[in-house]
Amino acid sequence: MTATHCPYCALQCGITLEPSTQAEASEPVSLKGRDFETNGGALCRKGYSAATLLDHPERLQTPLLRQADGSLAPIGWEQALDLVADKARSIRAESGADALAVFGSGSLTNEKAYQLGKFARLALGTSRIDYNGRFCMSSAAAGTNRAFGLDRGLPFPLADLDEAGMILLLGSNVADTMPPFVRHLAGARENGGLVVVDPRRSATAKLCEDNAGWHLQPTPATDLPLLLGLAHVLVAESLADTGYLAARANGFDAVKASLVSWWPERTAQVTGVPAEQIRRTARALAQAASEAKAGGKPVYILTGRGIEQHANGTDTVTAAINLALLLGLPGTMAGGYGTITGQGNGQGGREHGQKCDQLPGYRKITDPEHRAQVARVWGVEPEIIPGPGLPAVELLEALGTPTGPRMMMIHGANPVISAPDASKVSRALASLDFLVVCDFFLSETAAQADLMLPVLQWAEEEGSMTNLEGRILRRRAALEAPGNARSELWILSQLAQRLDAPGRFSPAPREVFEELKEASAGGLADYSGVRWDDLDAGAAIYWPCPAGTEVRAEPGIRNGTPRLFLDGFAHADRRAVLVPVAFQPAPRKNTSATVSLVTGRLLEHYQSGAQTRRVAELAQAAPEPLLEIHPATALSHQIAQGQKVVISNERGEVTARALLTADARLDTVFLPFHYPGSGTANLLTEAKVDPHSRMPEFKHAHVSLNAVEEEQ
Ligand code: SF4
Repeated sequence: MTATHCPYCALQCGITLEPSTQAEASEPVSLKGRDFETNGGALCRKGYSAATLLDHPERLQTPLLRQADGSLAPIGWEQALDLVADKARSIRAESGADALAVFGSGSLTNEKAYQLGKFARLALGTSRIDYNGRFCMSSAAAGTNRAFGLDRGLPFPLADLDEAGMILLLGSNVADTMPPFVRHLAGARENGGLVVVDPRRSATAKLCEDNAGWHLQPTPATDLPLLLGLAHVLVAESLADTGYLAARANGFDAVKASLVSWWPERTAQVTGVPAEQIRRTARALAQAASEAKAGGKPVYILTGRGIEQHANGTDTVTAAINLALLLGLPGTMAGGYGTITGQGNGQGGREHGQKCDQLPGYRKITDPEHRAQVARVWGVEPEIIPGPGLPAVELLEALGTPTGPRMMMIHGANPVISAPDASKVSRALASLDFLVVCDFFLSETAAQADLMLPVLQWAEEEGSMTNLEGRILRRRAALEAPGNARSELWILSQLAQRLDAPGRFSPAPREVFEELKEASAGGLADYSGVRWDDLDAGAAIYWPCPAGTEVRAEPGIRNGTPRLFLDGFAHADRRAVLVPVAFQPAPRKNTSATVSLVTGRLLEHYQSGAQTRRVAELAQAAPEPLLEIHPATALSHQIAQGQKVVISNERGEVTARALLTADARLDTVFLPFHYPGSGTANLLTEAKVDPHSRMPEFKHAHVSLNAVEEEQ
């Protein structure tokens, strides 16, 4: 029996795998939920069915090379690896190292994320590496870094939420995206203290009904002014915790001044949330926070991609943190602020050097001291580590331009579906001289590759992951890889040899983990005290965990730093920072596009759907994109239930069938982003990015709707 974790989201639910004993078993292993702290043995539909992909008939098992006639033909590993190295060398000789690019993923293990950053900088010599986590956690990371000096999704164990008296949950539909999370909302619900902010009456918003709390339903893209309005009430009614602010935070006066114009009636005009609901929410938060500090139940403010995936995502996160600081919560046992990480290793994936501006351990690539520390571990001179590269959207936009990359290696990402303005991304990839994709299925991005390299799936590999709480977990192998699939660590090690890279590129996960620990030592995300054997023994270890930390693998014992900031924030003066932020409504470019579009996820599918669309049970349950639309809006557009609708704007058009539901706002439609071809929601989203995080505008676009007449 192998104890490991679900391959999909950042909840990293515990599972066990056992070899299937029945000859007619449809999967090579049987998968069960395991009693782990995040999931208590429960799994969602995606997790339960994950093993069906391990021996899926479409699994790629040998390298595939694009032929002159456009087809993909099998080749051997030696030929494939030689070809990648030859192409990289010749393009680098002609156009410089920055003509080579790497695109990573928040689904890679810590070891793969670390090795990929090192490979890009030392073996390819390029600055141009970034990853799909830019589309996921970047605004939350930028907001928490500037407020607290450190970015860890939840700065407290998830189980702390169980005791909450009140939770303000903004822009996260956990009831669909990570259902086992809902158990951690039970305390707040029982207390009548769950408040959900979402333009949709989502499955999570419905949890607030029956006196469990209440739902605020703002106009899309107005979360920032709503947060400013809530903060205004705290200040105007003298409900802010001025004692806490004086002792633990800077910037209160500037934020106070910035809130003056956000009185509830004005906020209501901008957001559509009634003024009395704004007052009620702010007063309830203040009351609950005051009770928490007197020994009552804690209070939390949590955010998700709904408010973060905007071109003002960092400022919106900042407004949420300002609210938490005004309540006097972060860095106390009375509650705090956290963001709910999305991808499986969305946390670890952003700590170990895949980001264009970071080195392992959350070190800055522009800081000479940080560069020197990492160079010492890598056994190179600091000067050979390139400087900062381009964030994901800019990197994809640069492909094929005169000074942009000519070759790209993509690992575990499917930007043809998941990046904004997707048709542009597809054209940019097509303009490359050479595209290499490492994946285990022929995803929509892999289908454009010149060379496809088949890699291992989760149940075939060893490694570590870091979940949404900053807890480091072991991923374990239960099976041999099929056919000729190989680990990415092996591929990178082979390529590094062929490219005469300096330093060592081990193919062994445990060896890479030991090196990663050393590279992170003294950094913000310090793993140097985490021992592989302790992880194997089930120790609960949260970073930072510096060398010499005593670790005990006993139930109920939390090691490392389960709760951050209790004795000070990570800024040099140990104080948090409130940052004033302003709301600028985005100008509408296309006046004929009158309906707001919100994109998001479904219970049945994960991210670009490249995996879950191949699980028969999930594909049958949600086979195609459905456009959620209010019946009155549908009527005004002459759209009937189930009718095909063309959703369009200046970037493209998408076709989906209408699902009439009173859960939608009158001015807003919802489209899931898991589907390919004419159902690709990101054909409509804009590549405009946040100035701080470079997060694109995923969650709001203006569109036109046109019913399609279908022949009977
Ligand atoms: Fe758990 Fe997420 Fe996997 Fe569902 S997808 S079983 S919530 S880890």
